[in-house]
Amino acid sequence: MPQIINGKEISAQIKEELKDKVKAMKEDGISVCLAVIQVGDDPASSVYVGNKKKACAYIGITSLSYELPEETTQEELLALIGELNKRKDVNGILVQLPVPAHIDKDAVIRAIAPEKDVDGFHPQSVGALCIGQEGFVSCTPAGIIQLLKRSGIEIAGKECVIIGRSNIVGKPMALLLLRENGTVTVTHSGTKDLKEVTRRADILVAAVGKPKMITREYVKEGAVVIDVGIHRNENNKLCGDVDYDDVAPVCSAITPVPGGVGPMTIAMLMNNCVESAALRQ
Ligand code: NAD
Repeated sequence: MPQIINGKEISAQIKEELKDKVKAMKEDGISVCLAVIQVGDDPASSVYVGNKKKACAYIGITSLSYELPEETTQEELLALIGELNKRKDVNGILVQLPVPAHIDKDAVIRAIAPEKDVDGFHPQSVGALCIGQEGFVSCTPAGIIQLLKRSGIEIAGKECVIIGRSNIVGKPMALLLLRENGTVTVTHSGTKDLKEVTRRADILVAAVGKPKMITREYVKEGAVVIDVGIHRNENNKLCGDVDYDDVAPVCSAITPVPGGVGPMTIAMLMNNCVESAALRQ
């Protein structure tokens, strides 16, 4: 049987470490504060925002919540971000995506001061990651690196194949694995013989956004398989991009869905907030 990489346990461990860190920082007179902005009332976004606020409360991070109506203009949103950029007590600013169609998402991301860009989406943060400088890193791929490291899985020298090239998962994942000295290949919708490439992987990261697409034909015997996908199947149960039951018997380690990559995203967001406050000092 493969090693089951337990994201629930590892994220809980990270949150405990952060809780202790925040307590120690408070004793030194440093507080941590995250501003969370949601425009409109998309139910999925409300769940994500609620979970982020809960995690802040647990760790001891103050969260400021801005629930703006759907008809908020881009100028109003940018003005709020501008104010929060100036506030010394705010360490992180997060605008829950997606924003309504009349708002330019990229303009919103660019408006957040890079030193408060705890989602790691600002072009400056992405550029810093690309050239190996300090900056915030997109939370899901940063969480995957933690999953691998804390499960004792070596990255250096490994063939790492990523399925998907999105700005929030695939591309930063490639840069992070490269930073850890993996040999990295990024595949995407234009890749010709996907199975031929994925079967070379010692570490395979599936961020393709298609339920259970990755079956054992895509996986080399003994590979480590990281499943980023989150979907609801026909029975309303969560599943990933990987067909878990089919793939688990052939790999050496695998993340389940739920309880694998998912819980790591919020843990890394909390980590970025704490780092932002510590760096400010
Ligand atoms: P996306 O839709 O932006 O990107 C999907 C990528 O897959 C694209 O780059 C595309 O080129 C590639 N692709 C599509 N079809 C392909 C095919 N047949 N062969 C090869 N490549 C193909 O998705 P995303 O935002 O990167 O998210 C991917 C998945 O991860 C989704 O299921 C999403 O819900 C999930 N996700 C989970 C978390 C988390 O916290 N666990 C965070 C972000 C995304």
